[in-house]
Amino acid sequence: MSIQTRIEESAKTQPGIARRTNPDELRHDWTREELQALFDLPFNDLLFEAQLVHRRWFKAHEVQMSTLLSIKTGGCPEDCGYCAQSSKFDTGLQASKLMEVEKVLAEARKAKEAGATRYCMGAAWREPKDRDMDMICAMIEGVKEMGMETCMTLGMLSGQQVHRLAQTGLDYYNHNVDTSEEYYPNVISTRTYQDRLDTLERVRNAGMNVCSGGIVGMGESADDRIGMLMTLANLDEHPQSVPINMLMPMEGTPLGRSEKVDSIDFVRMIAVARIVMPQSVVRLAAGRELMSEETQALCFLAGANSIFVGDKLLTAKNPEEDKDQKLFAKLGIEPMPAHSCPSEK
Ligand code: SAM
Ligand code: SF4
Repeated sequence: MSIQTRIEESAKTQPGIARRTNPDELRHDWTREELQALFDLPFNDLLFEAQLVHRRWFKAHEVQMSTLLSIKTGGCPEDCGYCAQSSKFDTGLQASKLMEVEKVLAEARKAKEAGATRYCMGAAWREPKDRDMDMICAMIEGVKEMGMETCMTLGMLSGQQVHRLAQTGLDYYNHNVDTSEEYYPNVISTRTYQDRLDTLERVRNAGMNVCSGGIVGMGESADDRIGMLMTLANLDEHPQSVPINMLMPMEGTPLGRSEKVDSIDFVRMIAVARIVMPQSVVRLAAGRELMSEETQALCFLAGANSIFVGDKLLTAKNPEEDKDQKLFAKLGIEPMPAHSCPSEK
C-alpha cells in the first residue's frame, strides 16, 4: 500500500480529523473564518492536513532549488520598511548599477553547477526603465539557454514591459504582496497594494508564471497574516510560486529592531499556505539563516518545497551550501526537477 493510500486510509479512521479540505479542488473563495479555523487546529492536525494536501500534488521529499542574484543593488526610491536597498534609509549598503549581462550569466552558470534549477534575478527598482529592457532580456535568453527556469523581480511593470518579458520567454515574475492590504501602509508608503495587484494581473494575463508571497514578522497581526494568504489564495489563479519570508531585521531600516517571529507560528503559516494553494510551490525564502534545522524540517513537513540555495540573497545572508547539503542529506531531500510544478504554465 503506497504512503499516499496509507495516509488517506488513516485519515478516514483517525477520530476528529474530518478532511477539511479537498486537495483536488483549487479554491479562490477562501473566507477569513476558514483560514482562522485552520490556524486554530491543533498543530499535529494542521500538519497532517497539510501533508495530505502536499502529497496529493508533490513528491514529499523533493524541494525546488532556486538561486537569487541582485543584478542592480541599492538606491531604490521606494520605502519598503524591511528593505536594506531603499535609498530612504541609512543602511550602509553600497549601491551599484545594473550588472553587465556576461557577469550575470557567469554567476548563473555557477548556480546551475551547484544544482539550481531556477535562476532569479532581482533589481532594486520601483520599476525598470525602458532603456534597461534590452539587457534584462539578454539575461533571460542567456539563462534559458542553460536550461534553467528564469525568474525576474524588477518592481512594478508597464503593459509593454510585461509583454516584452513574456515574448522573451521569461518563466516566472516575482512580485510580493508582502502582507495584508490593511497592514500594507504600515510597511510601504511609496506605492499601494493595488499597484502590486495590478502588476500581478498584467503578468498573469501575459501568460507568465507568478511568484508572489510575503513576509512574516513585521509587526502584523494574526489577522493580517490571514489577510495576506487570502489575497494570494483568492487571486484568479494561485501564484505558481509562493515565497514565505521570515523578516530578516536589517540595521538602519524601520523594521531593523523587530522581534524574531515565533517558529511554530511560522510553520503554521507554511502549512496554511500549502492547504489553500495546493498546487503552488511554497518557498521557504528569506530568514532560513535565522531558523534552526528543526524549524526548517517542520516547514518542509508543513509543505514548503522550495528554497534559495547559495550563501546570499539580494542583500541578506542565506545558509551556506554545505550546511544546506548536510541538512538535506539528513532529511532525505532531493532537488525537484525543473518545470515540475503542477500548476506551471
Ligand atoms: N525590488 C523588487 C520588488 O520590490 O518587487 C524586488 C524585491 S526582492 C524579490 C525582495 C523581496 O524579498 C521583497 O519583495 C520582500 O518580500 C523580500 N524581502 C526583502 N527584504 C527582506 C527582509 N529584510 N526580510 C525578509 N524578506 C525580505
Ligand atoms: Fe525597493 Fe524592492 Fe527594496 Fe522595496 S523591496 S525598497 S521596491 S528594492
